[in-house]
Amino acid sequence: MKAWVLGDPGELTLVDKPVPRPGAAEVLLRIDATAICATDLEVIGHGPPAVIGGEPPFNRNFTPGHEYMGTIVELGSTVDEFVVGERVAVEIHAGCGRCERCRQGMYTSCLNYGRNYGEFNKGHRANGFTTDGGFAQYAVNHINTLVRVPEHLSDEVATLIVTAGTAMYGLDVLGGLVAGESLVVTGAGPIGLSAVAVGKALGASPVILTDIVDSRLDVGTRVGADVVINASKEPVVEAVRKLTSGVGANLVFECSGAPNAVDEAIHMLKRGGRVCLGAFSNTPSLVDIGHVVTNNIYLYGIRGEGQSAVRRAASLIAQKKLDPSPLHTHTFAFNQLPTAIRYFKEKVDGAIKVVIKPQEFRD
Ligand SMILES: [Zn+2]
Ligand SMILES: [Zn+2]
Repeated sequence: MKAWVLGDPGELTLVDKPVPRPGAAEVLLRIDATAICATDLEVIGHGPPAVIGGEPPFNRNFTPGHEYMGTIVELGSTVDEFVVGERVAVEIHAGCGRCERCRQGMYTSCLNYGRNYGEFNKGHRANGFTTDGGFAQYAVNHINTLVRVPEHLSDEVATLIVTAGTAMYGLDVLGGLVAGESLVVTGAGPIGLSAVAVGKALGASPVILTDIVDSRLDVGTRVGADVVINASKEPVVEAVRKLTSGVGANLVFECSGAPNAVDEAIHMLKRGGRVCLGAFSNTPSLVDIGHVVTNNIYLYGIRGEGQSAVRRAASLIAQKKLDPSPLHTHTFAFNQLPTAIRYFKEKVDGAIKVVIKPQEFRD
């Protein structure tokens, strides 16, 4: 099969690799669509959070890519939960299944992250981070990580099921039962826009979205935001407080990663409110901890999409209560990955979710 591999930082090469074989509880997938994510750019450019054989992921014949879907083409020896020909989206993390966190369903916080090699092989996998990922034509995946794709969804849009799962997981830690709660989402990237859509589907009201790009805010309105605020044109904290009778919002889902975003988030909240942090900047944030403590504010961080959040997000999509399709903007052939990455990175032509099709080649 053809697969992209990471050489030196920033260097991707299209090579031939053997098609992997599924283990007992795994299936072999023909990958039909893979989306590009900001974390892929981190991995390709800098390495972490990818770790291969305990080392940085460079020059190790490693294939990145973690947001993909495909068709099952072969079953492992004990698999009777799926059949050949089914279309599935894939959760990124298959924890070790034996540590304290995996046993709690928090497999994205597996205590054996990256320990999947040599004499310490604990069986942990995270596609495109600790094992080969989706910038390839085929991949094996554990059945625990598979969710069926609703029939009405295109391959391209199905890559967004996992993104919706991340939003679902964030709303879980904010309390889960968000119906009637005011929700502010800061940052209209793929996760922020998914948080708007999932929050709306679960009944949050009002859903307020902030960003600095009007075209992204327009997409936010299409996926369910009741109010949008352009943070480059008006002070967001005051705007949110005005929209919430002066007392602040119940919940904030921070998806911008802007250095001042956490401090702004805590000041948007009502006393006793909750913030979920789904993005981060590479510099430490200055936060008014006194405001957090004296106002009984709860701060949560999430990694990925634990506790079967992806399965629940897929159910909302199957019921047509959630439509992630406005987030998909561009599709490229497999050999056009470098162009696809440029479109995503530079937001060319309003790019939000950029997808490649591993079975298609174009001149
Ligand atoms: Zn991602
Ligand atoms: Zn584990």
